[in-house]
Amino acid sequence: MAYIEPAPLLDKENPFEAMMSRFRTASQILGLEEEVYNVLKVPARQVIVSLPVTMDDGSIRVFEGYRVIHSTILGPSKGGIRFDPHVNLDEVKALAAWMTWKCAVVDIPYGGAKGGVACNPREMSAGEIERLMRAYTLSMIDIFGADKDIPAPDMGTGPREMAWLMDEYSRTQGMTVNAVVTGKPIVLGGSLGRTEATGRGVMVSALAAMEKLKINPYKATCAVQGFGNVGSWAARLLSERGLKVQAISDLGGAYYNENGIDIEAAVKYRDANKGSLEGFPNAEKIGSGDILTLPVDLLVPAATEDVITGSNAGKIQANLIVEGANGPTSSKADSVIYEKGISVVPDILANAGGVTVSYFEWVQNRLGYKWTADRVNRRSDRIMKDAFDNVYKTATEYKVSLRIAAYMVAIDKVAKTYKYRGGF
Ligand code: NAD
Repeated sequence: MAYIEPAPLLDKENPFEAMMSRFRTASQILGLEEEVYNVLKVPARQVIVSLPVTMDDGSIRVFEGYRVIHSTILGPSKGGIRFDPHVNLDEVKALAAWMTWKCAVVDIPYGGAKGGVACNPREMSAGEIERLMRAYTLSMIDIFGADKDIPAPDMGTGPREMAWLMDEYSRTQGMTVNAVVTGKPIVLGGSLGRTEATGRGVMVSALAAMEKLKINPYKATCAVQGFGNVGSWAARLLSERGLKVQAISDLGGAYYNENGIDIEAAVKYRDANKGSLEGFPNAEKIGSGDILTLPVDLLVPAATEDVITGSNAGKIQANLIVEGANGPTSSKADSVIYEKGISVVPDILANAGGVTVSYFEWVQNRLGYKWTADRVNRRSDRIMKDAFDNVYKTATEYKVSLRIAAYMVAIDKVAKTYKYRGGF
């Protein structure tokens, strides 16, 4: 392969640097041609729009919105829409590329995209958010499409916003097009099993890794950081499979019980306590960072990015880390963890259960049919297990970490498809 600059090891990274660092390393090991590397390292399309929205007080505010399509080589692009004050083009570009690798690693026929609007939905009324979502949809009318680019929820958006998007898009087409977006409410064509899909995929990949490491789930202990959608479902499903979940945490604090935490009780407590674990009883409150360095078999970071860094990676005692969150480990921490012999099931594999069931939602919409929860779960479990086995095989063959192996599997698939399709 021609020269590709070496990957720098960074500790506090923006997501684009984190993605590029692993992408470069995996490309080098694969011996990817420089021409193909140059195609894959940049997004195919970047759209920036200004969205004037009438606020409740009659004033007009202009929001900046983005949609980045990283790749459509494998199929229509897929990726969520983030409503957050920190949204910026660099972040959206990285998240779009991550979607390309995630879809490729689980072998679903999608490219990668991401969208976002710099806004603070917590300070906006439902009406203001609806007008913003409809304005964003209209400005992306030539981008979105069931066969072109299929959005989904991300931070700050959920089924309600996807319903508005689907409705606005459908109005412009003169017919209902529910396959244009996933993560919809069930009555609008959302899929059963989508809510728990990401946590379920975390559970499936954790059990697959534990089998390889010869860790008996019935004797294993676990700590889960983050108790939102991904963390609470992962904790619940892992405890159902026999693991003792000794610690859980969220922004309201970290809680430890040597004998295991009753996850059902924790979910009930959180739901009755404005979504927070603060004051959770029957467990000892520990420092929020301490959850990452407990003497457990399995650690599941399922909160946010950059929590495992060069400064705490050396103190991690778990044998296995399964990344529920996107980008929880800095690339500098990667090497510390690898040298300590800790296995890491990386984000682009471990949390791909969500996009897998989004794909099933799109398939069901296009079929005009509905699958049972059981069918959704069985099929997504199989996809996650096959993807894990494929990545594991690559890691063993090339003697690399599961993270680099996952990137290699993904990049190889996209690069091969690109070569078959041919460039200009
Ligand atoms: P969420 O908003 O439902 O939950 C986030 C949880 O993390 C909350 O409990 C919050 O209190 C906690 N948290 C945030 N910062 C924390 C910190 N510093 N320390 C401890 N806890 C903290 O979000 P989610 O949907 O569960 O997403 C979590 C992560 O998983 C994100 O990185 C997201 O990008 C990723 N992810 C989510 C999905 C999905 O389907 N929801 C799919 C793929 C990846």
